[in-house]
Amino acid sequence: MPEEIMTNLYRIQIQLPNSPLRILNSYLIKGEGRNILIDTGFNRTECRQSLMSGLSELGVDMADTDIILTHLHADHTGLAPEIYVPGTRVFLSRQEIPWMIGDTRRELWARDNQRMLHSGFTPDTIGSGKTFSTSRGMAPDPNFDKYLPIDEGDIFSCGGYTLKAVMTPGHTPAHMCFWMEEQKTMFTGDHVLFDISPNITLWQNVDDSLGDYLESLKKIDKNDVELALPGHRGTGDFHARIADLLEHHEKRLEECLDVVLANPNKTVYDIAGKMTWRIRCNSWEDFPPNQKWFAVGECHSHLRHLERRGKVEAYEDEELTRYRSI
Ligand SMILES: [Zn+2]
Repeated sequence: MPEEIMTNLYRIQIQLPNSPLRILNSYLIKGEGRNILIDTGFNRTECRQSLMSGLSELGVDMADTDIILTHLHADHTGLAPEIYVPGTRVFLSRQEIPWMIGDTRRELWARDNQRMLHSGFTPDTIGSGKTFSTSRGMAPDPNFDKYLPIDEGDIFSCGGYTLKAVMTPGHTPAHMCFWMEEQKTMFTGDHVLFDISPNITLWQNVDDSLGDYLESLKKIDKNDVELALPGHRGTGDFHARIADLLEHHEKRLEECLDVVLANPNKTVYDIAGKMTWRIRCNSWEDFPPNQKWFAVGECHSHLRHLERRGKVEAYEDEELTRYRSI
């Protein structure tokens, strides 16, 4: 059942089975001529059913609807090609379009796999699953190539609302938030979440993803946001949450540095295994491979940021990336 947040603006909750994120928030703005749908859910049957029933209850015709994607992740983009009909326009941040389509996506995923091997993953630590990251199996159809680019400052108007694209790199290379100044309301995608801290990994073709993320938090903190509409689960006090997230990462940076000081010359995989994670597992060995993938990526983004702050250095040792303090 879609929930009306304000006039012409609805939230459709999409169930995410087997995902710790649990719920994706899809937002629908009803307009006079055209509608806007923000984010869609994984490319899997259960998500499709939640989305389609929400859209039909709201009487939405996809031929009159534009889809705006906050970022490239499959839980946000997965269904866009599935619900596309002629007349739909699908928008995504310009720099993230290569992650969506065919050959460029295959190449980027292959390079991600390579980095994970350099980080210290071995075939047995990846587990029996053939894929490194399970969300890849729920990604949008790679043959769909009708994405239209969004750039910083682009404006979308619909249903009496004006949405301004605000680039917030970090969680993904060119994540976008959408700001409705008049209503003091911001669609925050996965840049600011309230029930979970967004995963920050180290991205291909990005020097310092965590550094970008922290800067992007400070950037949107300048907007006078009274209502945040996040990509997952519930909302909360926007500015207090930004302060929490900044503090959270400073603590994680300290923890990460302590691990390197106590355990020099380890791989990213080994350093991640010595950090604390909020997951119900007895030991690092027991982590499901998919959670290890997130943990190693998160650890790597913190190590790279420590490197940029001049606290640690990385070096290559027989195809493995190892870290030591300076
Ligand atoms: Zn997400």
